[in-house]
Amino acid sequence: MRRATGLFSTAILLDIWETRAGRVLRVFGLDSVRTTILTLAVLATLIPALVTGVASYRQNSRAIREKVDEQLGGASALTAREIGLWLKERQYDLRVFATSYEVTDNVERTTPQTRQRLANYLGSVNERFLDYDELVVVAPDGRTVASSERTPAGFALGPETLRRARAGDVVLGEPVHGDSGRATTMEVAVPILSPTGRFVGVLAGRLDFAGIEKTLREQLAGRDDRVVVVRTDGAPILVAGNATTAPPVETLRELQRAESTTVAYTASDGTEVLGAASPVQVVDWIAIAELPTEVAYGEIRRLRNASVLLVLVLLGVVGSLAYALGLLIVQPLSRLTLASERVARGDLDVDVPLSGGGELLQLTTVFNDMVRRLRDGRDELERLSVTDELTGLANRRRLMAEIGREVTRSLRTAHPFAILMLDVDRFKSFNDSYGHQAGDFVLKRLAITLRKCVRDVDTVARYGGEEFMVILPETAVTEARQVAERIRATTEADRYSPADGVDELNVTVSIGLALFPAHGDSLESLIAAADDALYRSKEGGRNRVTAAKGPGKKG
Ligand code: GH3
Ligand code: MG
Ligand code: MG
Repeated sequence: MRRATGLFSTAILLDIWETRAGRVLRVFGLDSVRTTILTLAVLATLIPALVTGVASYRQNSRAIREKVDEQLGGASALTAREIGLWLKERQYDLRVFATSYEVTDNVERTTPQTRQRLANYLGSVNERFLDYDELVVVAPDGRTVASSERTPAGFALGPETLRRARAGDVVLGEPVHGDSGRATTMEVAVPILSPTGRFVGVLAGRLDFAGIEKTLREQLAGRDDRVVVVRTDGAPILVAGNATTAPPVETLRELQRAESTTVAYTASDGTEVLGAASPVQVVDWIAIAELPTEVAYGEIRRLRNASVLLVLVLLGVVGSLAYALGLLIVQPLSRLTLASERVARGDLDVDVPLSGGGELLQLTTVFNDMVRRLRDGRDELERLSVTDELTGLANRRRLMAEIGREVTRSLRTAHPFAILMLDVDRFKSFNDSYGHQAGDFVLKRLAITLRKCVRDVDTVARYGGEEFMVILPETAVTEARQVAERIRATTEADRYSPADGVDELNVTVSIGLALFPAHGDSLESLIAAADDALYRSKEGGRNRVTAAKGPGKKG
């Protein structure tokens, strides 16, 4: 009982679902099978494609962003390290020069020879170390003792430099900026100590940035990123790659805070860039690696475009497939619908071509079968309605229709046709003598004889009782008389025992013949003429053929 209730409520729920779902589908214009299939297919493609597309796009862009972070962070750190190392090496060079015997031995002597020796030493060192423009030795009082150059350009070493050098420090001067706005040179000074450790002067060198800038530039050759080295106050020192100048000071602060992770900003030349900064050891400089955002995210954009294209292509392919599939289902369905409408209107001459498979094929087969049964039933009814039950001949209704048709045809073609009216002679007494059943037998046998004696195109009908009629299309009076005579003679000659224990018997027929339009130019007058002729056959002694009176007799 509970189970039955469960099934019942499931059925109700399904019913409600179907009604609601149908209403929703109609609201969205999805009540046709084709649009439903199409929508389903498009959704089934779009949803997974979009979900996986968005997921992979996010993952890939994260990977690309990480790669850019790594690339820029790495490039800035590498540059910072390189420059720090270069500066340290140069300081080391100067310290080595300053401890050289040539320097410590000659710095305090002031004869022209010792000065010359010192100058020669500086000159030879300068020739081997190309990163220096000029090397000088300066006395503790600030006088230049010797220079590597014949015409010294002069150094900007002030008392502060000397004071710091005296304290044992390496002193880095202010970078000197050239016309390009970038630093071209920088002075570096180291103390010179006597063998006893006394401060005896300063050895200074003017560092040329061209060499290190070239090295950096070579490192970046063929790459999209660029490197700027700036002082923390924003003054540019070095530029490599296609960078122009340093970013604004606020950006610098931001880059420093970000500690070698990527920051997005507008570069001095107006392009949107991503940058990462690393501090240079020893000096208060920062190395910044920049990459135009366009280049950095170009790959992401290409990825997104490829994903969109893929989804569109998928949609196109799946959409077309679904459309074709829809047609495959919908076409047999619409054929079935049209055929059903025809059947509903009473037209049973439909046969839906079999196509597709599965339920549709089954439905079409069942439909065709159903229509065929209906058609067979209708045909049988039709046949019964025009057939005489006893003899299987056409009945009176069919006979009248056929004569009507012949009249029309004869009028159209101007060809005559004939009818024969037959009546069994003295049939009442036959029935009386041998019984009604024997009489029926005779009628059936006579029907066979009649069929045998006429052509296929002729119609044989039972007019009523023991009266028959034959229609002979396209037949003139002579041939009609011949057919009538053949019927009469064959019937007379046909002998049989109508019942067990009865001797062989025969019946005879009287026949009246009439021709259309000679003996009657309408259905009624033609039948009346044939009836009249039959009457005269009976009058004349029966078992004979008589033609109707009138012009037809001559033919
Ligand atoms: P005649 O036509 O030569 O003038 O004489 P008849 O005896 O044939 O004349 P009538 O028209 O008076 O009789 C017709 C008889 O035919 C009457 C009926 O018993 C018989 N009959 C009519 N229909 C049937 C039938 O379906 N079966 C049988 N067994 N007899 C029939
Ligand atoms: Mg009769
Ligand atoms: Mg009769």
